[in-house]
Amino acid sequence: MTLRKPKSGPPQKPRPIRKAWKFCPHCGHPVEKPGRHPFVCMACEFTHFFAPVSAVGAIATDPDGQVLLLVRAKDPGKGMYGLPGGFIDAGETAEEALQREVLEEVQLEVTSHRYLASFPNEYNYRGFVLPVTDMFFVVEVVSFDALHLADGEIAGWHFCHPKKRELKRMAFQSNRRALEEFLKQRSRHD
Ligand SMILES: [Zn+2]
Repeated sequence: MTLRKPKSGPPQKPRPIRKAWKFCPHCGHPVEKPGRHPFVCMACEFTHFFAPVSAVGAIATDPDGQVLLLVRAKDPGKGMYGLPGGFIDAGETAEEALQREVLEEVQLEVTSHRYLASFPNEYNYRGFVLPVTDMFFVVEVVSFDALHLADGEIAGWHFCHPKKRELKRMAFQSNRRALEEFLKQRSRHD
């Protein structure tokens, strides 16, 4: 996919993606008041629901119980921490996406998973905000020996027992909330 260079100028205030729909994608009719949900074209009745897209996130711990955090190489959240994961493809299960994303991103093979929780997220891409539902899983991997970063996406990694300092540096609040839930559950079992 080739992306056009963004026009220079002051960054725009983030807007919901639905406000970007200025014309009906089916018949080209101009939209009188962009931003309505669902989108219904006045001319041809073409309808679109701006439902959140789904994504998965993985919490993987080393034998000492330290959590694998990734340093994001790109915006949104460049330089901040994230959990391995990504968007679920159409036709894919959340579990398949979990396996695929963890393998693609850090070359680790997920052998088992436990569903933890879901949290809403927002993905700000050049000023337009996409609603996302993040689903989090606690995973086990074959071994961390193969840990290797996919080119370009991730700048580094950090194993730690997440404390306030790390939690504050999470790129997405949904990731922070998932970690907090994980730590809360783990402390109950200690
Ligand atoms: Zn139309």
